[in-house]
Amino acid sequence: MKSFIPVTPESDFSLMNIPFGLFRAGDYYAVCTRVGDTVIDLSICHNIDVFNGIELPSGIFNEKTLNPFISLGKAVTSAVRSRLQEALSVGGYLDADIFKSSALMIPAAEAEMVLPLNIGDYTDFYSSREHATNVGKMFRDPANALLPNWLHLPVGYHGRASSITVSGTPVVRPSGQTMPEGATTPHFGKTKQLDFELEMAFVIGKENPLGRPIPIEEAEDYIFGLMLFNDWSARDIQKWEYVPLGPFLAKNFASTVSPWIVTLEALEPFRVKGPEQKPEVLPYLNIDGKRNYDIHLSVEILSNSGSKKTVCRSNFRYMYWNMCQQLAHHTVNGCNVRIGDLMASGTISGETEDSFGSMLELCWKGTKPIQMPDGTQRTFIEDGDTVIMRGWNDTGYGRIGFGECSANVLP
Ligand code: MN
Repeated sequence: MKSFIPVTPESDFSLMNIPFGLFRAGDYYAVCTRVGDTVIDLSICHNIDVFNGIELPSGIFNEKTLNPFISLGKAVTSAVRSRLQEALSVGGYLDADIFKSSALMIPAAEAEMVLPLNIGDYTDFYSSREHATNVGKMFRDPANALLPNWLHLPVGYHGRASSITVSGTPVVRPSGQTMPEGATTPHFGKTKQLDFELEMAFVIGKENPLGRPIPIEEAEDYIFGLMLFNDWSARDIQKWEYVPLGPFLAKNFASTVSPWIVTLEALEPFRVKGPEQKPEVLPYLNIDGKRNYDIHLSVEILSNSGSKKTVCRSNFRYMYWNMCQQLAHHTVNGCNVRIGDLMASGTISGETEDSFGSMLELCWKGTKPIQMPDGTQRTFIEDGDTVIMRGWNDTGYGRIGFGECSANVLP
């Protein structure tokens, strides 16, 4: 399968991908996909009969969010994705000069991508064993780093949806209360320990009624696709406020997502088995098969001066608790989920020191600074820094990835 649109081997957007996003041009909004460096307007595709035979409400591709499209269900959204793959192939429906000259295809650099979802609720899990162990070692007991519940349930908390923004939106350094080392009264001011958390988030694509848990073997039906997710964190604020109810203002000031949602179907070739789970989980969390995904992840820091360094290389496959278990657990008490809800994985750390998914771990609470090429050091994120996350893998027939999840830090 090859597109008539040029795709370099390094591009995340081969014809194998066909992710979904949303762009705007003034008051005009359209659902779109991307091949190589070209963004394709699905509303125009619809108008020129690319989706003939697929039941689609009129105006579905000109809504201001993808929620109405996602709510059509996987039978429809998968059919749209497959049809796009055919139409964008060499010799396909759109491989004709009459189409190429229209507004159908926009250079990616010119397309203003917007947050593609109306996110009603956002949950953040804590599902990387390496991350939970690192944090436990640093802040609690190195000998008993994991708390007693951790191996029995996917720990999580309810986050804040209102401050989730799309890649490219700046993040303002938050202020808050801290208790500095050795102090006896709290201090108020800008955080001195601004951090990223390398995460992936899945998008809910099907709703369960209140009171009806999602059985674990059906969980994948409820997942539309995945995004990159940066759960920005202020560690000094977090340290002072988190007892006993968990994260609050240290987390709710900003989260950044990639503009593209890569469907679960696109990620099929990357399925792998997760880590062995011991002790055995309760029956409602028990699921066999390949439920993890082999997705390479990286984090790059780009300084104000243009100095850049990849500080972390991790992989989504390291997750101890998989998405099916997270969703089954989230709903086992009857909690309902809604189209567009976002469920983030928690920081994705691997075993090696360069695979840790936060500055907190990479610099071990500030004790091991990272050297930047321009001679400056980092223990946390500085004003003017841009944090860029990437996620991808190669099918052998082209790469599938998420593009960039990037945000610049303002004072
Ligand atoms: Mn997090």
